Amino acid sequence: MDNFDTSKYFSGSLCKRNHNWNGTEQSLRYLSSKNCIQCHQKHYQENQEDIKKYASEHYSRNKERVNKQRRKYRAKKREYFRKYYARYYAANKESIKKYRADYRSKNKERVKLWIEKWEKSFKAKIANQRKRENRRKIKRNNYSFPYTSEQLKQRFKDFDNKCVYCGELATSIDHFIPLSKGGTDTLSNLVPACCRCNGRKTDFDPELWYKSQSFFSKNRWQNILRILGLSEATIGQLSLF
Ligand SMILES: [Zn+2]
Ligand SMILES: [Zn+2]
Repeated sequence: MDNFDTSKYFSGSLCKRNHNWNGTEQSLRYLSSKNCIQCHQKHYQENQEDIKKYASEHYSRNKERVNKQRRKYRAKKREYFRKYYARYYAANKESIKKYRADYRSKNKERVKLWIEKWEKSFKAKIANQRKRENRRKIKRNNYSFPYTSEQLKQRFKDFDNKCVYCGELATSIDHFIPLSKGGTDTLSNLVPACCRCNGRKTDFDPELWYKSQSFFSKNRWQNILRILGLSEATIGQLSLF
């Protein structure tokens, strides 16, 4: 150690045990207490048991007060602790994860109680409210339709602007597999249709409905499947739901 943290230590007069720091004929001392660091460490090592015992006794006698002080100290040095823990976590990620998993599996009941307590707490209410607000914000600001109007125009062209079912002029867009049957609101599930067909098909299974219509056309049916990239097999599965 050639350099030392000058916010914590200073190089002062030689201590009574002659702890000569780095051949300077001086001892490295704490700025706060002026004590020699090496003396302090030696004292700690020699009296470790007593010091720990004293500290734990002091803590159990003054729990409330000590906890209050710690909270106050942490709040005051909030940024420092945040960075400290972040660094510590990054450096020990794997072992921390393992420790937590071990703890959870060994203390299932206790963890369950903690979670229950947390869910009832005021902080949890605030956290949940924040989550809801964030979701709303995302919806408001960044919500984008899963397809563009250009893509929609192209889809009409794919079918010659004709209703995929009856072949009349298409004037609306139909969710081929109804949303209620697990169809998605994406381009791969959209087909042009006339209002009549669209209105009649509603939530019916597309195959069952279409094949029972007087204007059913095998060519048009296969054309839909081909353009949407579906097979008879995948459509067949629908009636199971
Ligand atoms: Zn010393
Ligand atoms: Zn039609």
